[in-house]
Amino acid sequence: MSLSDSKMNLQAGEKAEAMIFQGPHQAFEWMQLPIAELKQGEVLVRVLYATICTSDLHTFSGRRTGPTPCLLGHEIIGEVVAIGAGQVLDYHRQSIAVGDRITWTIYAHDHQGAMAALGLPQKSPDVFKYGHQPFDHTHPLSGGFATHCHLKSGTDLFKLPLSLSYQEAAPLNCTHATIAGALRMAGGLIGKNVLVVGAGMLGLSACAMTTESGAQAVAVLDINSARAAKATAFGATVILSDSPQLQAEQIASMGGVDVIIETSGVPEAMEKSLDYLNIGGICVWVGAVFQQRDLHINAERVVRKLITIKGLHNYIPADLDSAIRFLEKHHQDYPFHSLVSHTFPLENLGLAFEFAQDSKFYRVGIQTNKFSSTKKHK
Ligand SMILES: [Zn+2]
Repeated sequence: MSLSDSKMNLQAGEKAEAMIFQGPHQAFEWMQLPIAELKQGEVLVRVLYATICTSDLHTFSGRRTGPTPCLLGHEIIGEVVAIGAGQVLDYHRQSIAVGDRITWTIYAHDHQGAMAALGLPQKSPDVFKYGHQPFDHTHPLSGGFATHCHLKSGTDLFKLPLSLSYQEAAPLNCTHATIAGALRMAGGLIGKNVLVVGAGMLGLSACAMTTESGAQAVAVLDINSARAAKATAFGATVILSDSPQLQAEQIASMGGVDVIIETSGVPEAMEKSLDYLNIGGICVWVGAVFQQRDLHINAERVVRKLITIKGLHNYIPADLDSAIRFLEKHHQDYPFHSLVSHTFPLENLGLAFEFAQDSKFYRVGIQTNKFSSTKKHK
């Protein structure tokens, strides 16, 4: 399905439908919800497509603690079907209209607040994060696994390039925006050697983006050799061996590593990869978003090698803008479309989650616009 397909409008008296997360490994509860009146600056979208992010899977399995009940799903694209009073502008200060196909920052925040002024809007105290909020009857449509999503004022909106498919566009506002943020924090990459740790969706995005940012070599480390091999289609030039000795030789022959983009969150991989950094190297950690043991790091080595370690959680709106521009330009250069291997209807969300737990799938998609309350829910 392409974003240029025919447009839809909100029907009078239309109700929203959602699949609500009740707790780890429990059945999702189907709910019909009224569509609340929009306040000034708010937008209602009909969800066109959503993908199950790895962090949704962590919540579903209990590895990550999330509120319950909760409407999950944050990798979402939608079509604007209603707008609150007054004019609503997108990130580029262009007017939003009914019929626009959009993505949006994973969170709404106070643009005038202190954290926004610090350049850390994702940590604003009032932040409202789509797909992560406790279920609230005053604003129930807060996630992607529903027919509609109610966007708060303070959400940065972006019109989508119509050349993208649903499957390409849905992961933009989590996966690709996070990697765009990691590249921003890593600094310039021209002529540098990059190591991407973890070859899941984030890692593959990192391979393609670092390649297009001028990296000289892009090595990939993943314990799953099939996943690691897939990275060559996304620009990776070196697939690191499982053997520690061979791995060290591969790193030495490429001239060491200047930048690490760490997406796995696996302590052993985080520790090992630091050994490969050259003097002055920068490591950006984005994968460790679930509970894990403390790391063992040799501080003297960090000091003597002038190593910088940075953490990134979520991203800033400019990163989503970078990600959209990257994908618009390069979506045909890399097989992003193929990373969403299967699409389930919303009413089969539970089945989709069980299916998505198999690590051979990068993303499973949820198609919501043909939802019918007469179907069975699993
Ligand atoms: Zn995510």
